[in-house]
Amino acid sequence: MDTKFVFVSGGVASSLGKGIISASLAKLLQARGLRVTIQKFDPYINIDPGTLNPYEHGECYVTEDGAETDLDLGHYERFLGVHTSKANNVTTGKIYNTVITKEREGAYLGKTVQIVPHITDEIKRRMLLLGKTGEYDIIITEIGGTVGDMESQPFVEAVRQLRWELPEDDCMTIHLTLVPYLSAAKELKTKPTQHSVQQLQRWGVQPDIVVCRTEHELTPELRRKMALFCNVKPGHVIQSIDAPSIYQVPLNMKAENLDTLVLEHFGIKDAPEPDLRRWNEFLDKLASPKKTVDIALVGKYVELQDAYKSILESFVHAGAANECKVNVHSIHSEYIDNENVAEKLSGMDAVLVAPGFGERGLEGKIVAIRYARENGLPFFGICLGMQMCVVEFARNVLGLSDAVSTEVNPATSNPVIDLMEDQKSTTIKGGTMRLGAYQCALKAGSLAEKIYGTDIISERHRHRYEFNNDYLDAVEAAGMTASGRNPDTGLVEIVEIPSHPFFIGVQFHPELKSTPEHPQPIFVAFVKAALEHQANRK
Ligand code: GLN
Repeated sequence: MDTKFVFVSGGVASSLGKGIISASLAKLLQARGLRVTIQKFDPYINIDPGTLNPYEHGECYVTEDGAETDLDLGHYERFLGVHTSKANNVTTGKIYNTVITKEREGAYLGKTVQIVPHITDEIKRRMLLLGKTGEYDIIITEIGGTVGDMESQPFVEAVRQLRWELPEDDCMTIHLTLVPYLSAAKELKTKPTQHSVQQLQRWGVQPDIVVCRTEHELTPELRRKMALFCNVKPGHVIQSIDAPSIYQVPLNMKAENLDTLVLEHFGIKDAPEPDLRRWNEFLDKLASPKKTVDIALVGKYVELQDAYKSILESFVHAGAANECKVNVHSIHSEYIDNENVAEKLSGMDAVLVAPGFGERGLEGKIVAIRYARENGLPFFGICLGMQMCVVEFARNVLGLSDAVSTEVNPATSNPVIDLMEDQKSTTIKGGTMRLGAYQCALKAGSLAEKIYGTDIISERHRHRYEFNNDYLDAVEAAGMTASGRNPDTGLVEIVEIPSHPFFIGVQFHPELKSTPEHPQPIFVAFVKAALEHQANRK
């Protein structure tokens, strides 16, 4: 069978959940035994979102091979349980970079380089790239942005050309729109969908399926009306009604026959019914928690949910694994100080200190860590959160009062967290951190080893600074253990305090590998420790 291509575009408004719809369709097809991947094409000019502030675009998701990507790739991995790669996220910046570099090399010598055909050819080449590996039966391509925006046009034009070039049953388009409800009129309105599809048609693309985000059920009449005016077959207008959890959406899409319509289009007749047993087990646990637990998430991007997307999702997975609901309380680290920390963390069963960059909110993180360490409150620090637990320990246990990371004070006399050697000569900001998967050897008998149940693990990284090994002996002598080290370089990847009920800091980002079907072990153990703390408190 040729690799089949599904293109997913969006209209009317942004944030309708194209990523979730794409991931849900992929999940259903995968559960039928097909080999599926998802890729995202983003219309912005940054080469990747690595240089974007989380307030701009949410979390930056890092793949195994070290690509800094859109947070939708996190959804793809969480739904499918398979790794994505550099090739799965393409931006306008990457496309132009390739074309302009080729132009300088003389690849188009004598020719005027233009959006059509040179940019669109490069988009098409990248859209087909994963198909050439032979690893996938179906590739779902999400087109970022909203149809009608100037910046999306070259991507839609590339889709139009591919639909013309590829055999008809090798490629299809799904368009996601919004059907708003006007409460004054007590009516769902279909006009924005009709206009959005007309815009897509004006650019030469006829959608095969229209998926409508809606807060209320679409009646058969509304579906028929939209099918008629969007020029799609009856039954090809389907609803995506607001769901209590994003993980419910594959089942909603199944109920709407989205996967069946796609298989019919591709002429795939022998696919079995989807096997969603494990997914359903997870959903059952998610729907009926036996307990609740309150965990503080201390960070500086707390105003925007998407900034800590993978951490929040990891708590959903780890909560279900513990049959409990995790109430995550976002606490702004900028506003935590010695006077108010007890009050801010009162009622919390555990504290997670989040990753981050720069000075803002740093001291508040250190105060929260001290409180957790001194009061036996389960603590989990990720990346900057780990670095700050080392700083806190150095300051308050070793008495090195000016200990800090050189990220905020390069002149400190106690650089307990310092720039990695290979970072010292780096001046370029984009894509130059320590990125992607690295191995980590766990110390025998440590909490980390107990949690993972193995002595060698691999987790993903995104940082420039590291634990300064000049301080390792002093730190260990005072009761903080380096329980995970990179086997090749000796970099400290995990610290813990064995005398504390649960205190762990990790230099890597474990949240990037948690899925509903394989919850991340540290998150599972952390939620368990929070439940134990709660039980002891009562
Ligand atoms: N700013 C720190 C570093 O670059 C931590 C990064 C992070 O938390 N992702 O090392």
